[in-house]
Amino acid sequence: MKSFIHVEPESHFPIQNLPYGVFRPLGDNRARVGAAIGEFVLDLSVIDKAGYFKGTAVEGREVINQESLNAFMGLGKKAWQEVRAIIQGLLREDTADLRDNASLRKEALLPQKNVELLLPVEIGDYTDFYASKEHATNVGTMFRGKENALMPNWTHLPVGYHGRCSSVVLSGTDICRPNGQKKPKNDASPVFGPSEQLDIELEMGWFIGPGNELGQPISIDKAEEHIFGLVLVNDWSARDIQTWEYQPLGPFLSKSFATSISPWVIPLEALEPFRVSGPNQNPEPLPYLKKEGENSFDINLEVSLKTKNEKSPQKIISTNFKFLYWSMAQQISHHTIAGCNLRPGDLHASGTISGPEKEQRGSLLELTWRGTDPIVLENGETREWLEDEDQVMITGWCQGDGFRVGFGEVKGCILPAKEQPQQNKSSDNKILRTNI
Ligand code: CA
Repeated sequence: MKSFIHVEPESHFPIQNLPYGVFRPLGDNRARVGAAIGEFVLDLSVIDKAGYFKGTAVEGREVINQESLNAFMGLGKKAWQEVRAIIQGLLREDTADLRDNASLRKEALLPQKNVELLLPVEIGDYTDFYASKEHATNVGTMFRGKENALMPNWTHLPVGYHGRCSSVVLSGTDICRPNGQKKPKNDASPVFGPSEQLDIELEMGWFIGPGNELGQPISIDKAEEHIFGLVLVNDWSARDIQTWEYQPLGPFLSKSFATSISPWVIPLEALEPFRVSGPNQNPEPLPYLKKEGENSFDINLEVSLKTKNEKSPQKIISTNFKFLYWSMAQQISHHTIAGCNLRPGDLHASGTISGPEKEQRGSLLELTWRGTDPIVLENGETREWLEDEDQVMITGWCQGDGFRVGFGEVKGCILPAKEQPQQNKSSDNKILRTNI
């Protein structure tokens, strides 16, 4: 399938992809839903206004001319399939409607460089899992020793915790080094100050479309019908703060200061040609987590780092989504089995994705083995953890025959820690108010 719009073979956004995002043209305040195609954004509010969604589940509903994807996501799989088929049809090289209509084309197709991308979803809840066996084994070995690396529950259920959605930010947002309590190994008491073990977590996230009623679990066979699409996630982590705070309830402030996501949401349908089997699961999962067939996807994932002294980013991690032990369907099924309700706009993330090889480890914690084996960069600089002004970029793509279904990128730059807050200076505190 080809589009009348020229798309390079290495582009992440060919006609086979068509991810959704929310954007506003530069100099225009109105945010609306669009789809990426090559170097362009297709303004779906223009396509909607022109009547192309007549006869679909979207007709008569204000779901496209919106500041978030939530309303569209909530409509479910049938609506998503209809809209995707119409957009794909309009962009085909053998379809004249848009190709030969200069005024519609001018209004509907905007160069990506002329738009501002916004957080695509109003996120209601953010749940972070711990679904990579290699990651859990590496971290467990470092924190508890090889004998106790995997907790007894790990191979029986997808471990997860409830994160913060307020600090989920769009790619490109600078990340301020967090302050917090740390306890140096040989000190009796904790100290306060900037994290000295700032890390990344290479993850993938998926947005929930239709939710479930409170008390009504989602069965594993239906779980994927609740997935609208996927994004790249960098779940920034402060390991020194984490080490001191995480027992017994898990990480808290060491994770909640920022989580970055990529701006384009890749429809699950676009990933179908890249479906593969996940790892063999032993012991066999309980019936509510059991699903035969190909439940994973072949998605290449890479992390690059650029220090302030380097001219170009350098690849430091290369791994794949297919290494994840627990599938997205299993994570959704487990999330709801006790009755928890998911809602349109909820974000789930996989947890750090690591593979069996060293370069496949999805965090600096694992890559440098807790700082004991620093990375040596091409210019001779070394890194145990992130330093100020380091830029981190995660990218991902599925390789098709002559095209890529890509995720774009999620990037962020580390800023120095804020000055430590002092007592009796309350007038300095700015209170952030929302417009209600
Ligand atoms: Ca995480």
